[in-house]
Amino acid sequence: MDLTLTEKHRALRDEVLAFIEKYRGVAPSPGGGRKRPDAKVLEWQKLLLEHGYFARSIAREYGGFGAPQDLIEQAIIADAFSRAGVSPGIHNQGISMLVPTLLEVGTEEQKRRWVGPTIRGDIIWCQGYSEPGSGSDLAAAKTRAAVDDGHFVINGQKIWTSSAHYADMMFLLCRTEPEQSKHAGLSYLLVPMNTPGIEVRPLRTMTGRAEFNETFFTDVRVPVDQIVMSRGQGWHVANITLKYERLLLGDPNKLQQRLEAIRRMMTQPGPDGSRLLDRAEWRDRLLQLQGEVMAGRHHNLRLLSEQAEGVDSGLGRLIVKYHGTMLGHRLASLALDVLGSAGLHYEPQGETGEDDTATTWQIDYMYDIGLIIGGGSSNIQKNIIGERGLGLPREPKAAVPAGGN
Ligand SMILES: Cc1cc2nc3c(=O)[nH]c(=O)nc-3n(C[C@H](O)[C@H](O)[C@H](O)COP(=O)(O)OP(=O)(O)OC[C@H]3O[C@@H](n4cnc5c(N)ncnc54)[C@H](O)[C@@H]3O)c2cc1C
Repeated sequence: MDLTLTEKHRALRDEVLAFIEKYRGVAPSPGGGRKRPDAKVLEWQKLLLEHGYFARSIAREYGGFGAPQDLIEQAIIADAFSRAGVSPGIHNQGISMLVPTLLEVGTEEQKRRWVGPTIRGDIIWCQGYSEPGSGSDLAAAKTRAAVDDGHFVINGQKIWTSSAHYADMMFLLCRTEPEQSKHAGLSYLLVPMNTPGIEVRPLRTMTGRAEFNETFFTDVRVPVDQIVMSRGQGWHVANITLKYERLLLGDPNKLQQRLEAIRRMMTQPGPDGSRLLDRAEWRDRLLQLQGEVMAGRHHNLRLLSEQAEGVDSGLGRLIVKYHGTMLGHRLASLALDVLGSAGLHYEPQGETGEDDTATTWQIDYMYDIGLIIGGGSSNIQKNIIGERGLGLPREPKAAVPAGGN
């Protein structure tokens, strides 16, 4: 794929930069995917959608901007926002994981009904995958959904459900065909969170905030047409969503934003007038991470170009989550060191509290340890990369205890 910018692309880049200059004063701070978008975030989202800087190639009938798919254009937009440190819009589980899944395998009715309100930020989704006893081994999910009178009746428990305490909807992986083998017995349902029988109990993380939850289902009824693909195809759909989740969690543009924010902090003169950036040991740490961020961004461009050519990136795609989440945590770690003693100060704020910049770095540092685990832990990613990507021998299965099943 030719990455030289055409005249049209250069014009777009200038247009985006002018937009950012004009509107950056009304932009919310970047991040914010961990709480319900407030009025300022929704207004910004609307502005981005109107200008085609968000959901650019999603069809108009589904609420997008309707431009032809042009991966270079998308890369130009993402690059301009991340370099400027300006919010590129909302990135949450609904927008970044469910929407592309529905666009790939949803029905026409599902796309029309869910994509528009989700990309506008009006509908918030949570992901009902993990259960006690089935996290890494996701296909072992036990939550049942039996069909009764045109409805799935769901019973069971999910855990670590991020955002369930304020989400409107859940995409849920559950067992509908218990007589089938583990992977063939699953289905993928869309469940309104206000359905009677759903109980959400918060779990507090080390940030002091309750960011994820236990979610219990007791005779929860959802119409049978609230399924994506058909019964028994849930494992296939869940893996499509996981593909997008891994790209979201390792997003190189987010890493670029972090790097720029740290660089700005390091160019601020301290009390004695000196700048950290002028000190070799600090500059060295920044440059090492900058090199890795650049490698991640170029890798992303390679993936984009393979996608444009219809090539399956395989191993290339798998390393994004592993590399990106580990690097994100190291960037947050550098930021805390740059903050010095201020980096040690942390007072947990409520879910709705406005975070100041310093506190945000502390949260990122703590929360990012979770991202190394969430969406498939780094250990599991390494197994997948080794076995499926590099063709190494499969790891031996744990022995089944006598009398076990
Ligand atoms: C911040 C955060 C947000 C999350 N949000 C959600 C969400 O919104 N929805 C949702 O459904 N889930 C969510 N999760 C759950 C997440 O997907 C699981 O935690 C993850 O898949 C690991 O599963 P587990 O916690 O059951 O750990 P386990 O599977 O019990 O693993 C425990 C440890 O053993 C290691 N391990 C397990 N099997 C192997 C193996 N075969 N080889 C090598 N090592 C292995 C793992 O790497 C891990 O270190 C979230 C988790 C976190 C931390």
